[in-house]
Amino acid sequence: MSLMAPDLARARMLAAAVTLPGTQTVTLVGARGRTLAEGVMALRTQPPFAASAMDGYAVRATDLAGLAPLRVLGEAKAGHPFRGTVGPGNAVRIFTGAPVPHGADTILIQENAQGVGTGIITPTQAEHAGRFVRSAGLDFRSGDCLLKAGTVLDARHIGLAASMGHSVLTVRSQPRVAILSTGDELALPGAALRDGQIVSSNAYALAAFVESLGGLADDQGIVADDADATRLAIANAADRSDLIVTSGGASVGDHDFVQAALVANGFAINFWKIAVRPGKPLMFGVRGSTLCLGLPGNPVSSVVCAILFLEPLLRRLLGQPNPDADRSEGALLGRALPANDLRQEYMRASIGRDDAGNLVATPFTSQDSSIQRLMASADALLIRPANAPAAEAGSACRIIRL
Ligand code: AMP
Ligand code: MG
Repeated sequence: MSLMAPDLARARMLAAAVTLPGTQTVTLVGARGRTLAEGVMALRTQPPFAASAMDGYAVRATDLAGLAPLRVLGEAKAGHPFRGTVGPGNAVRIFTGAPVPHGADTILIQENAQGVGTGIITPTQAEHAGRFVRSAGLDFRSGDCLLKAGTVLDARHIGLAASMGHSVLTVRSQPRVAILSTGDELALPGAALRDGQIVSSNAYALAAFVESLGGLADDQGIVADDADATRLAIANAADRSDLIVTSGGASVGDHDFVQAALVANGFAINFWKIAVRPGKPLMFGVRGSTLCLGLPGNPVSSVVCAILFLEPLLRRLLGQPNPDADRSEGALLGRALPANDLRQEYMRASIGRDDAGNLVATPFTSQDSSIQRLMASADALLIRPANAPAAEAGSACRIIRL
């Protein structure tokens, strides 16, 4: 199989995946990071009444023209409306958020009134009608649809949903994502390492990644480099998840069993091996509505491929719009780079500003895909297109911020 262009691979992956049907009702407190399953309509109008935007006096704008004294009838505070009517020559002491009393159409701010606190005030400035009045429905009206299905809820959306009168929201169920770490050499963090062993780290990074995007990570532990063990682990994971994410065992070595295990379990291999660095042995398999993304074992490769493939896939399963929206931005190259080969490259880079304020991305000298330390300290991935010619320092490039 020749190497597939990453954009094509991603498009094929997204074409094979659909929004999961399940939904769930959550309280506002538990809604952060969840994806709205349906549009949310306002159940009320905001503000529900014309409200004062300032502390001052509710008056009739026409009464201000001559700057004549006004008689103060009473007080309106937030939550405590004034029940009477403001007639000619009248004023009502009013505070921010209080309903503007009947008859008044304007707020004279207290800075423009003499005699504040007494029964008679004298305006020092005229105002046009409606000044400092927030009209009813200024923010939204009952029936307005203000949040769209597919929105990933953050603090702003949750505050708005509360204002719209909702105490619970219908969100997408979390995709169940089984994570399998393949490798005879792997041991759990904290365990005593036998000769030749290393700590399995990928599952933890991947679980955190899945959870940060709104999935439900189910770490299925370490799978030995053994055909039967891998087949059984895939069979078990396939029965209980929407998506299986494997790490390692996806290359062409004698000890790479993931592909055979997928096929033995009835998965069709949609693609395998892509023209990207790091991450060449990426694999994608489909069995009905169960998907499997096979990530490379190298820790940096697995995280980079998670960003490039697992993120859009999860967004698709969650019904978010434009799951593969381009998140890259422009920057200037911090150092010269040689010509690239046919694999698109994602280089770990630091970012900063030059004297003119331009964003500058400088790739680290080492791009070894086993070096987690550099991945963890990188600010961005610098994208080198396939077959890019040599590039001078200062030339334009694209980056994805981490
Ligand atoms: P593989 O893709 O299985 O050939 O693994 C490539 C490299 O990644 C090897 O050096 C493995 O030891 C390493 N590796 C594989 N799985 C993990 C893991 N879960 N955590 C850390 N390193 C891993
Ligand atoms: Mg391996």
